[in-house]
Amino acid sequence: MAVDIGPELYEAIQADFKAGVNMNIGIQKIMKKAMKGKATQADMSNLSNLFGREASKALKRSLVLAELPNETLYWNIAESTIQPLLVKAWENVNHYATIQQSFADEKSGIAIKITEGLNPTERARQVMNMAVNCATQEELDNALTDPTITAVRKFYDDFQKENMRLRNDLGLETTVVRVYDGRGLHKGETPCNWCISREGAYSYQDAISNGVFERHPGCGCMIEYHTSKGVDVQTDWTTNTWESRR
Ligand SMILES: [Zn+2]
Repeated sequence: MAVDIGPELYEAIQADFKAGVNMNIGIQKIMKKAMKGKATQADMSNLSNLFGREASKALKRSLVLAELPNETLYWNIAESTIQPLLVKAWENVNHYATIQQSFADEKSGIAIKITEGLNPTERARQVMNMAVNCATQEELDNALTDPTITAVRKFYDDFQKENMRLRNDLGLETTVVRVYDGRGLHKGETPCNWCISREGAYSYQDAISNGVFERHPGCGCMIEYHTSKGVDVQTDWTTNTWESRR
């Protein structure tokens, strides 16, 4: 049984992450914009991407195979390093996404509970599964780059998806719009048909059945959802009762 060096490693990782976030001008700019109520969903998408990049950097700096017991990233070490850092990134994403959403709702006169996105455990496990099986540092660094950044980006997708579902369930008209990042695959040499096929505007149900909230590692598509206010909602179809929601 390897010595548990996880807690010590995590201390360094989370300190690196914190310092990275504090020194990242792009992150600080968006945070300030959010606090002033001026941030957009596109800003939040960029913010989750930047949080993902800082998380990736912090993990790569400390998770060095040559320095680990038996030059192996054991599951227990991944569990006490990758998992809590991704939970931290999830908290950051949800914190600012909630601020952005409440300002936007206030502006459009919508008063609906805002909910957090899906629990981050499963997305963290997917990254950990990729990281623990790595035989070389290059492989490990790869697992800690695109899959890690994309997992954090997905935290914001999950937030949007959850809140859109809630609004849809309440009978509000919701539309999700997905725009292709234009980056393509193989360093931009081939267009990404997987993403192109998901471009467009969808209702909540169509978005779910067409996988509009899904992302592949490295995907930078923009996803936004809108709630129209002032729609008449049929609250009881048996008595044909309608209610104005504003
Ligand atoms: Zn793509």
